Amino acid sequence: MNRHIVLHERSQRLNAPRRDAHAVVIGGSIAGLLAARVLADYFGTVTIFEKDPLVDGAEPRPGVPQGRHVHSIWKRGLSLMEESFPGLTAELIEGGSAEVEMTKDFAWYHRGVWKLRVPSGIVITCQTRPFLEWHIRRRVCQISNIGLVDRCYVKRFVTDTTAGRITGVVVQSRGVGATEETVAADLVVDASGRGSRTPRWLEELGYGRPEMSVIDVDVGYATRFYARPPIEDCPWKALIIAPTPPDGTRLGVIFPVEGQRWIVMLGGWNGDHPPRDEDGILEFARNLEAPDIYTFMRDAEPLTPIVGYKFRANVRRHYERMRRFPGGLIVLGDSLCSFNPIYGQGMTTSALDAMTLRECLERGVRKGETIDAMAHHFLKRVPRRLEAPWRMAAGEDMNWPGTQGDAPFGTPFMNWYFGRVHALAARDPQVLVRFVRVANMIDSPVRVFHPRVLAPVLTRSARGRR
Ligand SMILES: Cc1cc2nc3c(=O)[nH]c(=O)nc-3n(C[C@H](O)[C@H](O)[C@H](O)COP(=O)(O)OP(=O)(O)OC[C@H]3O[C@@H](n4cnc5c(N)ncnc54)[C@H](O)[C@@H]3O)c2cc1C
Repeated sequence: MNRHIVLHERSQRLNAPRRDAHAVVIGGSIAGLLAARVLADYFGTVTIFEKDPLVDGAEPRPGVPQGRHVHSIWKRGLSLMEESFPGLTAELIEGGSAEVEMTKDFAWYHRGVWKLRVPSGIVITCQTRPFLEWHIRRRVCQISNIGLVDRCYVKRFVTDTTAGRITGVVVQSRGVGATEETVAADLVVDASGRGSRTPRWLEELGYGRPEMSVIDVDVGYATRFYARPPIEDCPWKALIIAPTPPDGTRLGVIFPVEGQRWIVMLGGWNGDHPPRDEDGILEFARNLEAPDIYTFMRDAEPLTPIVGYKFRANVRRHYERMRRFPGGLIVLGDSLCSFNPIYGQGMTTSALDAMTLRECLERGVRKGETIDAMAHHFLKRVPRRLEAPWRMAAGEDMNWPGTQGDAPFGTPFMNWYFGRVHALAARDPQVLVRFVRVANMIDSPVRVFHPRVLAPVLTRSARGRR
C-alpha cells in the first residue's frame, strides 16, 4: 500500500489547481475514495487516513461491517464511478462481476405481483462490496498525488487560533508505541461513515451539534453465500421478493457475485429480523410472499455460515442548518446521510456527493474563490441532492406502522401514488422502465409524474382499481 504524508503550508485561494495545497480525507471506504479521486485534480497532495489495515484483495474488514452483505450499485452510481475511473466496469466484469439487465434479467416480486421481464437497457454489475471497493482502491492508489495511509486513526480536528477554520487533523497509527501526529491540511473531508465523530468534535470546539432527521426502521439482515452455475444457465440473474406493506415485513434477495457465487440476503422491517440458525432462517424464507427463495435455500449447498446485521435508523445530519460551521471542512457519504440499506442508495449517493464536490471545486476555480467559500457552497448545495433519495427511503419506510420519525413532507400522497405506479409497472412496460430509471437514480422522481404515468394512475383510481 502506498503510504506518505506530506505537510503543506496553508494556502487558500482556488484560482487554479494548487500544487502546494493539501487535502485530508478521513476514511478510505467508497465515499472517501471517490472524494479523493476528485480532490486529486485540485490539490497538490491528497492523503486518505484509514483506520483499518488494507490488503490488496477483496476482503471484508472491521471498519465496514456491512461489507459482508448485499451491496447493489445503481446505474447512476456505476456510471459516475466509471467516469472517475474509465475502464472500471470492464475490470469488474473481467474479475468476475455479473452483468445484469435491470428489468429483463431481474425476477422481481413486488407488492403481490411479478414485475414484467422486458428490456430497459439499464445494465448494472453485481459483485460483493469488498470486491468493488478493492477495484476502486487499486485505481485510487495509481494516482500519484494521492497517499493512502492505512492503520491510522484520525482522533480529532486541529483549528486555527480562533477555531474559525479546520486546519488539519491529529492522527495516530495503530502500531505499538505509535504517538499522535498533527497533519496540516487546507481542506479536511470527513468520509468516516455513519459513526462519524464530526458532531462531537464540532461540539467540543463550541459549534454545537447539527440537527438530525432520524427515521427509525429497525431493520435486520441475514446473509449467506452459495455456489452458482455460469450465469447464462440461470432462469433469472437476480431475484427479489419484496413485501407488501403494512402487513408484509420480509424481504429476500439473491444476487450473483464474483467467484461464481450467489449472495442471498433475507431482511425484515420493524424488528422482524431473520434468525441466524438453519431452521429459523428457512422458516423466515418460507414466509416470504413468493416461495422461490425458500425452495432455492432448501435445495442449495451453502458455502458460508449465516452472518447478521442490524440497522436501526435512516439518519441525516443537517450541517447546513448550523448557525456556525467552520471553514476548511466538508462532510459527505454516510457521515452526512445514511439510508435504510434495503434501498441500495448509499454508494450511489456517495458518488453523487463526490460529483457535487467536483462541481463546487470547478466553480471555485472559475470564480477564484477561497477553499472556505467553496466548502460553504458544498454545504448548501449537497442537501438539495440528498432530498430525492432521502424522500424515497424515509418516505417508503413510512409504509410500515412501526417506523418512527418525522415523515418528509407529502409522504402520504407519494406513498399512495407510488403504490399505484408499482401496480401499473406489473403490466405496463413503459411505466416499469420509468420507475426503474428513477430507482436507479438516473432520472428525478418527477419523471414518474409524466402524463404517461399520471393519466392511467388517475383513471384507474377514479374507477376504483389499482
Ligand atoms: C447492511 C448494509 C447494506 C448496504 N447495502 C447497500 C447497497 O446495497 N447499496 C449501496 O449503495 N449501499 C449500501 N449500503 C450503504 C453503503 O455501505 C455506504 O453508503 C457506503 O459504504 C458509503 O459509505 P462511506 O464510505 O460514507 O462510509 P463507510 O463505508 O462506513 O466507511 C467509513 C470508513 O471510514 C473509516 N473510519 C471511520 N472512522 C475513522 C477514523 N476516525 N479515522 C480513520 N478512518 C476511519 C472506516 O474504517 C471505514 O473504512 C449498505 C449499508 C449497510 C449497513
